[in-house]
Amino acid sequence: MKLEPGHSLSLKLLRVVLLSALAVGVVLSCGQITFDAYKTRSAIANDAQRILDMFRDPSTQAVYSLDREMGMQVIEGLFQNEAVRHAAIGHPNEPMLAEKSRELSSLPTRWLTDPILGQEKTFTIPLIGRAPYSEYYGDLAITLDTAPYGEDFVTSSVIIFISGVLRALAMGLVLYLVYHWMLTRPLSKIIEHLTSINPDRPSEHKLPMLRGHESNELGLWINTANQLLASIERNTHLRREAENSLLRMSQYDFLTGLPNRQQLQQQLDQILTDAGRLQRRVAVLCVGLDDFKGINEQFSYQTGDQLLLALSDRLRSHSGRLGALARLGGDQFALVQADIEQPYEAAELAQSVLDNLEEPFRLDQQEVRLRATIGITLFPEDGDSTEKLLQKAEQTMTLAKSRSRNRYQFYIASVDSEMRRRRELEKDLRDALAQQQLHLVYQPQVDYRDHRVVGVEALLRWQHPQHGFVAPDLFIPLAEQNGTIIPIGEWILDQCCQQLREWHDLGFSDLRMAINLSTVQLHHSELPRVVNNLMQVYRLPPRSLELEVTETGLMDDITTAAQHLLSLRRSGALIAIDDFGTGYSSLSYLKSLPLDKIKIDKSFVQDLLEDEDDATIVRAIIQLGKSLGMQVIAEGVETAEQEAYIIAQGCNEGQGYLYSKPLPARDLTQFLKQSRRLSNASNPNPATL
Ligand code: C2E
Ligand code: MG
Ligand code: MG
Repeated sequence: MKLEPGHSLSLKLLRVVLLSALAVGVVLSCGQITFDAYKTRSAIANDAQRILDMFRDPSTQAVYSLDREMGMQVIEGLFQNEAVRHAAIGHPNEPMLAEKSRELSSLPTRWLTDPILGQEKTFTIPLIGRAPYSEYYGDLAITLDTAPYGEDFVTSSVIIFISGVLRALAMGLVLYLVYHWMLTRPLSKIIEHLTSINPDRPSEHKLPMLRGHESNELGLWINTANQLLASIERNTHLRREAENSLLRMSQYDFLTGLPNRQQLQQQLDQILTDAGRLQRRVAVLCVGLDDFKGINEQFSYQTGDQLLLALSDRLRSHSGRLGALARLGGDQFALVQADIEQPYEAAELAQSVLDNLEEPFRLDQQEVRLRATIGITLFPEDGDSTEKLLQKAEQTMTLAKSRSRNRYQFYIASVDSEMRRRRELEKDLRDALAQQQLHLVYQPQVDYRDHRVVGVEALLRWQHPQHGFVAPDLFIPLAEQNGTIIPIGEWILDQCCQQLREWHDLGFSDLRMAINLSTVQLHHSELPRVVNNLMQVYRLPPRSLELEVTETGLMDDITTAAQHLLSLRRSGALIAIDDFGTGYSSLSYLKSLPLDKIKIDKSFVQDLLEDEDDATIVRAIIQLGKSLGMQVIAEGVETAEQEAYIIAQGCNEGQGYLYSKPLPARDLTQFLKQSRRLSNASNPNPATL
């Protein structure tokens, strides 16, 4: 707050003091002037008396001897005094012996002094002869004009008045300075310090003691204010602590310190809002302990509490993957996994929680085992609100408990069985290679210049002992997740190189082998060395291996990807980009990567005759490949019409069921031989395949 200049206490004091001093000055001056007026009147009377006394004897002489001339001389003598306006000598009952008058003086102060002193004053003394006769002869009368006296009176009055006022003014000014120095200045300093006090931490900034005011009212005021600020701070602190502990009590579980249901709801609300906006999945896992009641009864409630504490610590160890963790009640906890892509991630988390519980808890030299059942709901599939997701997760958990325990279950049965199957597959996949459940099939690639088979793509197959054939689209992501893609990938490379050597030895010496690379493999630093090594071991000519990579794998870190591809190319392999058109397909990245070939994704090829958009895309990709000097191959060619179309557009090669499904190595050898025969028949002088 800022003080307006006109509102300063000193100025107010100055005004009051000045006015009062002026009033007092005026009153005192008036008193003085009144007294002076009285004194002037007396002075006139005294003067008159003195004059009369002085002229009494010559006047008595003149009137005694009836000497008119002498009388006039006395009168003239009297008129030497300028205040004498009229003088007369004579007996009152006879004509005057001598008499003279003159006009009243015309002094400018007259108008002021006449009302106070009167215009003129007449004084008379009797003229009496000497003793012993002492006879009365007449009177001497003089009339004095008051104006000359008044002039002096006015002059002194003005001086009195002005000096009185000036004294008052000077006094007021001195008082103002004293007040300003003693009061306003220290008060302003205090105000300045008061404004810099932080209301949240009032005692942080103490009011400093003013020098020279330690023991007066100001000093006392500062001390009292400081004490008051300190106690305000203490009270605020206590209140804040109370509020915090109240908040903690209302939002956190008393025993474990985890958020309670109410707090979880708030957190989950926020997580769902964010996920809705970003179109991401959220999983809510409700963990219910199996038979916790039994444990409480078997041991003690204290042990039960200790167990819950230890359990919450274990759950906290997963918090890196969690958006929220809470205790819902007695033996129930909730875990929220925000921002997931696949339900599978929730299954993994649930399983790791269950695995984590497998390890016994050690309490007071006792080992206690806990088991739990987990119900899982997914956002947005199973519900769009916190209440629904939590309620369904709890229901699912209860339902799962009633069937069998120590497991997790998804709310939707199909998701649940799918997840279960995937987890099982993932587990089985670890042994698939060792148990020889994996094998490769090969699909021919045809050159459109002469319709000869110039290459084959190796495609992985998994024959599961129970589930039969498992699609690579399903198990390859699993292998990427658990890292088994690295040994599997190396096995594929080895198999392919060995197989290609075999075919080259059979006379198909120009045949090329296309091998799919997973992103995980691509980022594995050993890969170029492995490829190089294999090409040497199996004596494969350069450019006989073609490595297929996908756009999504490359885009995450384009500079590193470019480096990896370059070193792969240096080891003699060709690089093709697979499933082109389904990812980012940006020109700039195509240009910055060392690529030899573009594979048009089969989804565009399949509908290109029905869907004008797909036809446009296919045409554009072929043009793009041409202008960048890359080969273009179409995958998924199933009909002669599709083939005719892409050939007309200038596509270099094709691959698809039109030529052959992926075949085991032995069948493909037959296929190669047969197509060589066909080719020889149609062209009597063919170049060998
Ligand atoms: P991809 O590399 O694009 O393979 C082409 C897929 O199209 C193969 O499916 C093939 O069987 C299928 N296909 C070929 N011609 C036609 C056709 O005319 N019509 C139709 N509808 N489909 C056709 P597959 O064998 O199921 O492989 C699926 C994906 O799995 C592959 O797509 C590839 O990304 C991945 N994959 C397969 N084998 C391997 C492997 O050895 N390593 C890696 N990392 N990934 C592999
Ligand atoms: Mg491929
Ligand atoms: Mg493809």
